[in-house]
Parts: sequence; C-alpha cells; structure tokens
Amino acid sequence: MIDETRDYEAIIAALQEIAGEVQVCTACELHKGRTRAVPGEGPVDAEIMLIGEAPGFNEDQQGRPFVGAAGKLLEELLAEIGLTRDDVWIGNVVKCRPPQNRDPRPEEIAACAGYLERQIALLQPKLIGTLGRYSMEKFFPGARITKVHGQAKRDGARVLIPLFHPAYVLRNMSALPDAKRDIHKIPRLLARLEQVLAEEAAAQAPAEEARQDEPGMTQPEQLSLF
Ligand code: SF4
Repeated sequence: MIDETRDYEAIIAALQEIAGEVQVCTACELHKGRTRAVPGEGPVDAEIMLIGEAPGFNEDQQGRPFVGAAGKLLEELLAEIGLTRDDVWIGNVVKCRPPQNRDPRPEEIAACAGYLERQIALLQPKLIGTLGRYSMEKFFPGARITKVHGQAKRDGARVLIPLFHPAYVLRNMSALPDAKRDIHKIPRLLARLEQVLAEEAAAQAPAEEARQDEPGMTQPEQLSLF
C-alpha cells in the first residue's frame, strides 16, 4: 500500500545499493561457494515481509529467493489468502548458499545480519513472517517452531509471526494444515494491528486526553493484542 509520506525512489535506490553490496560481499565464508547471491526481492511498499534461512541450489543459480519446490509451496500458501509472491517481500537471513545446503553458522548469520536489518528498516513492513528456525531465532529467541508457530506478537508498529518453513512442510506433509491455519491469520493480524494503532493514536491525541481527564470518563483499555 502506497504511503505518500515515504520517498519510494530513495528507498528503491537504497535497496539496490544493498543488493549491489551483497553481490560482492566477502564478509563470511559463504561467498566462496556462491554462484549468485540472493539479496531478496519484492515490492517496495510491501506490508508483509517473509524471511527464510538461506538460498538453496535453485536460488543460488537464479539469484532469487524461494524459486524451487519450497517456493512453489510458499506461493500456494500465499494463494490461500489471495496473495501472490509479487505482493510480499521475500528474503533470507543469509544471502549466499551454504555448501550442500547445510545450516548457516552463527558467525555467518552474524556477518550477514546488517543487510537484513537495513532492508527491514527501509521496507518498514507491517508484518514479518519468519520461515524456519534461523529466521525465527532472530525475532523469537529460544522458541521452538513446533510450539510457537502461528503465535504472533506485536513489536511496536509491527506484528511478528513464526511460520513453518515450506521445505519443512514438504518433508512433513502432516504440518500442512497447520501451515495453512497460520497463514490464514495474517489478514486478521494486519487488520487488528491497524485498528489498535489507530486506537492508540486517538488515545494520545490532546483532545482525547482532555476528555479522559473529565470526571466519569474511563481510561482507554490497553488492548492486549494477538
Ligand atoms: S552470506 Fe552474507 S555475509 Fe556471507 S558473504 Fe554472503 S552476503 Fe556476505
């Protein structure tokens, strides 16, 4: 959704600058084996940002995130809520493929973290969906995906929700109903966030504060979200 207070041309330029840095980055060992780095992609005004773990074989070949079988399932899950991959921004915790698709190491995640943080700061998504363990660990430290998947939490003007990684679902098709249930929460979470932010903004307005000071008026309920 377009926000007229934001300078999208400048944001696109900054995102392209990050992508350029990623393409030539040598900050961790993963640069040695990459064919193409995968900076991430999506619309600059995306409300939803999905963050996976690391590029796999197909992603490394094409320089694009989630283009293999897991990407196809991700597209099917997004279709459940009327979205396509062109409606969301998709990226990864590390931008280069680990050898033999091994898990990214802590030092690699740490070396790459600054790129993702800059991307989040530029995109300002209203909702971040983590896909898989390493992405979840960044926003839900110590959590276990099988316990917390689909349990959103608010982070300021944003909602975070841990989701199953589509590759995990492909290996464990019994998780598919849960994966669908979790994705179906996203539209409701966005609507609820908008409502609560509007209520909070109204509650902070001077006129509203003055009314609250009048005898007989009750203080606004601090809504517990999600
Ligand atoms: S994974 Fe990240 S930190 Fe490591 S070389 Fe690639 S872009 Fe640089």
